[in-house]
Order: sequence, then structure tokens, then C-alpha cells
Amino acid sequence: MHDAVIIGGGHNGLTCAAYLAMAGLKVTVLERRAVVGGAAVTEEFHPGFRNSVAAYTVSLLNPKVIADLRLDAHGLRIVERKIANFLPLDDAHYLKVGGGRTREEVGKFSARDAQRLDTYQARLEAVADVLRALVLETPPNIVEGHPFAAIAELIKSGRIANRLRNLGLDLQRELLDLFTNSAGDYLDHWFESAPIKAAYGFDGIVGNYASPYAPGSAYVLLHHCFGEVNGKKGVWGHAIGGMGAITQAMAKAAAAHGADVRTSAAVREVIVEKGRAAGVVTEAGEAIRARAVISNLNPRLLYLRLMDRAGLPPSFADRIEKWRCGSGTFRMNVALAELPDFTCLPGRDRAEHHTAGIIMAPSLAYMEQAYFDARTHGWSREPIVEMLIPSTVDDSLAPKGRHVASLFCQHVHPDLPSVLPGRTWDDARDEVADLMIATVEKFAPGFGASVLARRVLSPLDLEREFGLTGGDIFHGALALDQLFSSRPVLGHADYRMPLKGLYLCGAGAHPGGGVTGIPGRNAAREIVKDVRRRRH
Ligand SMILES: Cc1cc2nc3c(=O)[nH]c(=O)nc-3n(C[C@H](O)[C@H](O)[C@H](O)COP(=O)(O)OP(=O)(O)OC[C@H]3O[C@@H](n4cnc5c(N)ncnc54)[C@H](O)[C@@H]3O)c2cc1C
Repeated sequence: MHDAVIIGGGHNGLTCAAYLAMAGLKVTVLERRAVVGGAAVTEEFHPGFRNSVAAYTVSLLNPKVIADLRLDAHGLRIVERKIANFLPLDDAHYLKVGGGRTREEVGKFSARDAQRLDTYQARLEAVADVLRALVLETPPNIVEGHPFAAIAELIKSGRIANRLRNLGLDLQRELLDLFTNSAGDYLDHWFESAPIKAAYGFDGIVGNYASPYAPGSAYVLLHHCFGEVNGKKGVWGHAIGGMGAITQAMAKAAAAHGADVRTSAAVREVIVEKGRAAGVVTEAGEAIRARAVISNLNPRLLYLRLMDRAGLPPSFADRIEKWRCGSGTFRMNVALAELPDFTCLPGRDRAEHHTAGIIMAPSLAYMEQAYFDARTHGWSREPIVEMLIPSTVDDSLAPKGRHVASLFCQHVHPDLPSVLPGRTWDDARDEVADLMIATVEKFAPGFGASVLARRVLSPLDLEREFGLTGGDIFHGALALDQLFSSRPVLGHADYRMPLKGLYLCGAGAHPGGGVTGIPGRNAAREIVKDVRRRRH
């Protein structure tokens, strides 16, 4: 009998395993793929060229997780980019963000916007600080039954209310805007020039299949701001060796404390006995019994594939069927013979803009049109492409003089046949990949010819490869009705699922997606309490 068995060795499953093992629990992690890490892995995709396969940049990984798991001692090193973002706009104009030059750069387009930047940043930071604290807590849960449980939740709510009160009324209003507005409306209020709104607004549509003017997209923007790199808040950086370096370090931390981490070990079903989760059966037919069964999977995948609906409370099962999943994300890795040469900022030498997140989407209007186009055509014919060239800050990824680039492209339809009957992502994949390369080519002529090899992942590929239902990078939309006390379902925000002994530790739980380690950490805290209670 194990104390805990974890289905899935994504970064949250590994984090959860490490915390449980540190608390002295006997834990086994079962990962379906041949390598742990889920969407945070590094793989060789062309001889001599390695890159992060899905997630590609780090900021949200919580400093407590880094410290508690001693990830640096297990080999993790995170470096900053020279500047945060570079937006080529047309043949002559561009915007650089970060590296101490945002104000001067924005001033090229609007003196008023340049003046407002500091206040914008300060207010966003103040709200992000509140989020930084909230993400580490188990949200107040709606409970039925014994009043003692309700009192505990009430105390939790009181603590949160206090934290919000400390913000003051003015910033509470800002917080309300950020939780309910669209990113577009929020940014239109602050700024008048398109480039800076595009730079910031991109965060509102990353993984969020929506217009930047869809209510709720401002929260997605905020969600991308609560991270830090090496103590610098809001900054995004690169893990040397790619995102796999994070999860390899996590696996080492878990193993060092005695967790058994197995790969090529897919789980077929959850064993349910007398209304309680009692263990799992692997695809190979091995039964592993445990006091706690912990899922790192998208909730739809867990409940609709590994469990019998009849064993779940009907209203809970209905909710899971309604769980909104589906990012409009198309992900490519390319091996490059040389760095791109942008018409608006010529040069192939490793310049600061080559280290940036290069956003090819000049305005919020462009992003909105990309979404409308994807809804009707299956993919945006003028797509949004962010390109990152990690080999400019990490020599371990490509042969000398060569480079690897991550292309993170938004808006494609997660369910292509629903808009283009008869077509699937398997037959559209290459056509869309060509379009993404042609989009970069518009800003950097010669880019297409420099591509030596590519690895392409459509939303369907993300689902098949990583179990990301609908290609959803967050395991479920970050919408108000799927956040905080209602993630994944109202009444189950405390990582405890409707069957006793069953828990959720992945991005489908609070506080949601991104390589944070937080759902894994928070879930472990609750599980340890329950397992200790049961042992005594
Ligand atoms: C294309 C893309 C780009 C992204 N970019 C970034 C980024 O730059 N920065 C960032 O912070 N976040 C990024 N994200 C989001 C982030 O990667 C995810 O939100 C996060 O990795 C989720 O982690 P997780 O551990 O909860 O789940 P996952 O990483 O999804 O792990 C779940 C694991 O469960 C395994 N599994 C599935 N079914 C079974 C089964 N039956 N039995 C056993 N194992 C199973 C899977 O193989 C997988 O390893 C990106 C995601 C994608 C897809």
C-alpha cells in the first residue's frame, strides 16, 4: 500500500511528489510518456538541435518551489533576456520593451503613453502582488455538511478580504477591472498608441482562444504578470537547457526524497471501491493501491477517460462535461542556419532584439481580427506569432553558429473539423506551418530559407502528445467561472475531488496553468493533512 500514487509526471505532478516525499510519504509517479515533464520538456528535434517542446519561457515558476525543492542544487539555472519584447511593426518601425528602454521606445509613438507607463506598471504590480499571495493559498471552498468546515472556510475568506482591504479602494477598483474587463478595454483606458497595447495585450490572448476585447481577457494578462526571474518581478527568462531542465531538476528532487518516478507507465483507470478512490491500474495491467490517488491531468481527461461517470455525483460530472478547454495555439520549433534579419532593424549579429520575445502582431485590432478569422476559416490567415530564439542566450541548444527558435502562434481553431468539415489538423498542419513561417518572412526576409528543420504541433498534436485536451495550455480556460473557488468546480477548490481519496494537483486546479509548480505544492499541503489524519 502506497501513501500516494500520482497520475502524470508533468511539472505539477513532480512538484507534488517532491513535497509529499519530503513529508515522509511513500509516493509513486506514473508518467505516460518516455520522459517526465509534461508540457515542460526539452527534446532534440533535429540532429544537434534541442529545444523546449511546448512551454518555452519561465517566469511563473514560484520562488518558494524553487527554494523548497532546491532546484538550483539539482542543476536549474535561469537567465534573463537582454530585453523583454521586440515588436517589428512594418519595414521601418519597431518597439522594444524592457531592458530599461520602454519609456524612450514608447515615446516614439506617444509622449502621453510614455508618461503613463510608470503609473501603469506600479498599479499592475500592486494587484499582481495580491495575486502572488493568493496563488499560494487554498481558495475558500463552498462546503456542505458540518458547520465546523464552513467556519474554517469563512476564516480563510476573512483573511483574503483583509488582504484586499489593504490595497485601498482605488486599487480594489483596479483589481476588479483586471478580473472582469477585456485586456483591450483595460489597455485602451491606459494608452493611446497601438504598439505598446499590442506588447502588453499579447499576454491577454496567450493560450486564450478569444479576442483581446473579450471580457475576462484582462485576467489572462494579469496571470502572466505574477511571476519573477531571479527576484525581479514580472520578468520572463530562460532555463538553461530549456524547460526540461526545470522538470529534470524536479524529478531529481522528488527522487532524492524517495519518490518512485516511473516513465512509459500510462494509467488506464482509477480503482474505485465503496465510493472511494483506492488506486490505479496501468495500461500494462498493474494495480497500484494507495491512500491518495492524485491526478495531474486535465479534469476532462481524468473524469471522462479514466473514470466511470456512474461513480461520480451526476451534477459534478455535468460540470466536467461543460469544462471549457481549448487554446488557439499552434507551436513550432525550427532549426535555423542563421539569425533572422529584420527589415526594420537590420543585422544578423546576436543583438539584444534577437534575445527578446519577438511579437509579430502590431495591434490589438490585428489580434481581434486573427480570432474572428480563426472562428470562421479555421486559422487566422494573418496570425499572431511570438518567436523566441533561446540559443541566443543558451549555447547548449544548437551547434555553434546555428540557432533554434520557438514559434508560439495564436489563433487557430482548436477543433478544426467543426469549422472546416472534412479537414483535420493532420492534413492542415503543414499548410498552417508554412503560413507561420511566411508570417515571420514578412518582417525578416530570408527567414524561410534559413529553416533547416521544423517540428510542428497543432492543437490536436498537443492533445495527443501531452494529453492537453483541445490543446488547452492551461488545462481549462482561465475564465472567472473556472478560477479560484470554482476551479475546477465550485465545492472542490481545495484539491479534494468528489470521491474520498481523490485529488487534483495539475493546472486544472487553483491557480491554473503555466509552469508555476503551485497547484502541485498546494495540493501536497492538503493531501499530507488528510493522509496523516487517516493514519492516526
Ligand atoms: C505550447 C505551449 C506553450 C506554453 N508556454 C508556456 C510558457 O512559455 N511558460 C509557462 O509558464 N507556461 C507555458 N505553457 C503552459 C504550461 O506548460 C502548462 O500550463 C503546464 O505545463 C501544465 O503543467 P501540469 O504539470 O499541470 O500538466 P502537464 O504538463 O500537462 O502534465 C500532465 C502529464 O500527465 C501525463 N499523462 C496524461 N495522461 C496520462 C495517463 N493516462 N497516465 C499517466 N500520465 C498521463 C502527460 O503525459 C503529462 O506528462 C505552455 C503550454 C503549451 C502547451
